[in-house]
Amino acid sequence: MPASKGYAASDNRTPLAPFAFSRREPGAAEITVEVLYCGVCHSDLHMARNEWGNAIYPMVPGHEIVGRVTAVGKSAKKFKAGDIAAIGVIVDSCRHCPPCKKGEEHFCQEGSTLTYAAKDRVDGSITMGGYSNNYVVDERFAHTVPAHLDLAAVAPLLCAGITTYSPLRHWKVGPGKKVGIVGLGGLGHMGLKFAHSFGAHTVQLTTSLKKKEDALKLGANEVVVSTDANAMKAHAGTFDFILDTASAPHSLDPYLSLLKQDGTITLVGLPEQPPCINMFALITKRASIAGSMIGGMPETQEMLEYCGQHKITADVEVIPIQKINEAFERMLKQDVKYRFVIDMSSLK
Ligand code: NAP
Ligand code: ZN
Ligand code: ZN
Repeated sequence: MPASKGYAASDNRTPLAPFAFSRREPGAAEITVEVLYCGVCHSDLHMARNEWGNAIYPMVPGHEIVGRVTAVGKSAKKFKAGDIAAIGVIVDSCRHCPPCKKGEEHFCQEGSTLTYAAKDRVDGSITMGGYSNNYVVDERFAHTVPAHLDLAAVAPLLCAGITTYSPLRHWKVGPGKKVGIVGLGGLGHMGLKFAHSFGAHTVQLTTSLKKKEDALKLGANEVVVSTDANAMKAHAGTFDFILDTASAPHSLDPYLSLLKQDGTITLVGLPEQPPCINMFALITKRASIAGSMIGGMPETQEMLEYCGQHKITADVEVIPIQKINEAFERMLKQDVKYRFVIDMSSLK
């Protein structure tokens, strides 16, 4: 059994601490990956603190994984030892339901298996995530990484990247569209880069005035401080699409007022409490509120290839694993530029 070590939450209050465990032996179609980098997603914090009520402890978080393949099962074809592989939010699914057959494994009708805090379909154990030295996964759920990208900056693409790429593609964001991104954090800064790259007129909506210069550098055509009522009023009724990545509870009303008739706001942020909505802001313009979750395996690979072609990666602050609890606290203070990534060599 591959011996593993990582950092785990033991309950919803105690800081993450070193933790030893073992993983199952890789099966025929599986690969073992030595984790090089793992991004720190706000979902890791929500999960570790049981803010969604589905935590299982001990919990090793982490679902933005880039690593080096150290072993391959006898029928694995996509990877060989020494290759770089990337793993995101899901590591298995039923594989036979209609969404799975279409490559939309994240919508698996039997429930996809999450990278951590989920029941492993193979052996019934609880999955442990990427804040650790290794991972064992079926190669169907691992991705190849385009050459010449900085691997630490690739890691966040596996969740923050695909979670923003997928809805921007689905709602056909591109030239001629005015698009807003709510929140300049891990997801938000990737949404901003993609919307800009797809050719939309992109407006960053932020509660942090001090992020304005950065937002412009990251590709925003305009920046609006969402707590400034006059600035928001100047944009009322002008947006085709808004992607809401905010991690904390908030009202949707200021953002609904920005939409054009038939405009859509898509929620990807998952605050502990649901939003409140003024129904009149919806009905008076036939606006839509939608949701979106990560992306399937083919679309995740497509997104990685797009990033390779367009040289898009995350802006990261690389930290040793020993700073993970500090990173969680800074994330809560909206003090992230714009994704923490753990250098897993610090675990030794
Ligand atoms: P993050 O890096 O901490 O960024 C969140 C940003 O939200 C903050 O930087 C802040 O940006 C903004 N924000 C915070 N409080 C706000 C408020 N009250 N009103 C408006 N904006 C506020 O978090 P993340 O990793 O990007 O994750 C964001 C959310 O997406 C989390 O809830 C996470 O669980 C969820 N998520 C969902 C999926 C999915 O598949 N749907 C996947 C991954 C993550 P400003 O300082 O610019 O205001
Ligand atoms: Zn995530
Ligand atoms: Zn399925």
